[in-house]
Amino acid sequence: MPVLQQALLAASRRPGLRRVVTGTPVTRRVVDRFVAGETLPEALDAVRALAAEGIAVTLDHLGEDVTDRSEAQRTRDAYLALLDGLAPLQLGRRAEVSVKLSAFGQALPVGGEDVALQLVRPVVEAATAMGTTVTLDMEDSRTVDSTLGVLAELRRDHPGTGAVLQAMLHRTEDDARALAVPGSRVRLVKGAYREPASVAHQDKAEVDAAYARCLEVLVRGGGYPMAGTHDPAMIERLLALVAETGRTPDSYEFQLLYGIRPEEQVRLAGAGHTVRAYVPYGADWYGYFMRRLAERPANLQFFLRSLATK
Ligand code: FAD
Repeated sequence: MPVLQQALLAASRRPGLRRVVTGTPVTRRVVDRFVAGETLPEALDAVRALAAEGIAVTLDHLGEDVTDRSEAQRTRDAYLALLDGLAPLQLGRRAEVSVKLSAFGQALPVGGEDVALQLVRPVVEAATAMGTTVTLDMEDSRTVDSTLGVLAELRRDHPGTGAVLQAMLHRTEDDARALAVPGSRVRLVKGAYREPASVAHQDKAEVDAAYARCLEVLVRGGGYPMAGTHDPAMIERLLALVAETGRTPDSYEFQLLYGIRPEEQVRLAGAGHTVRAYVPYGADWYGYFMRRLAERPANLQFFLRSLATK
């Protein structure tokens, strides 16, 4: 992984730097490109605009790594308010939500996983009641077993709960095989966290090859694959695989992040594919924003240019 990318990912976890970056007024303009506002009404406006273009959404109330139970309860409440806000739009499964278990207390020192399961369950129940689903985002590699454990618990009563797998991890091909079963919704991503060589591919070409292999496992399997990527090569790969396997457009989807390759989102939707934009909103955008800067030199250049032209 390039040194600059490593530094940005390390910075995404440093609260001191968070204050410097979020305190810079110009940052706001750049953040707006990747984040659909700080409030629920702003996020709902973005959902309406995307729906008008034929694009489905998964909403992420920004936040991660909470340090006490009351913060985790606030996350639950924010998601319940989000589902209440979505209900009148009547988008059904075309508006789902994505959660990070670390925002529900997963990393709390005592019983974190149980706290997260207990607090996320009402969100999943509310989503099911309104005919939609929740996907559990995947965070750093130390959380994978715990997150897949919570997923298995939730799927007992709510089989539509979605999983995320990160192709960069050595374990993921096996996880993809285990999860490629009927009814199983799995988002495949490359992986946004800095991971050691003991658990993850370090070379981009190896990550890409692993992504292509895992995608094939998912598409040839019995579940519902969701390709979370902006990479033209991976998008082509999914198109080729669905043509080859005869999958119908209601049996897989493309997922892209809000603000990234929007013209491609519209193009794929126009061609009859299900396209879902991952729409983050909320005040706690720092970690999410820093991972986007780390992903792509062009994103960082855009940020630096806007600082220079302030
Ligand atoms: P990259 O390897 O970053 O880029 C490959 C190519 O894609 C580039 O060469 C370029 O051609 C094109 N491209 C990429 N970005 C842009 C851009 N900004 N503008 C124009 N072209 C571009 N990660 C997790 O670890 N956990 C999660 O739960 C998670 N959820 C995600 C949900 C969604 C819907 C998506 C899309 C990503 C998610 N990620 C998640 C992030 C993911 O792991 C990657 O870090 C991120 O998607 C970048 O990888 P990429 O596949 O887009 O390709």
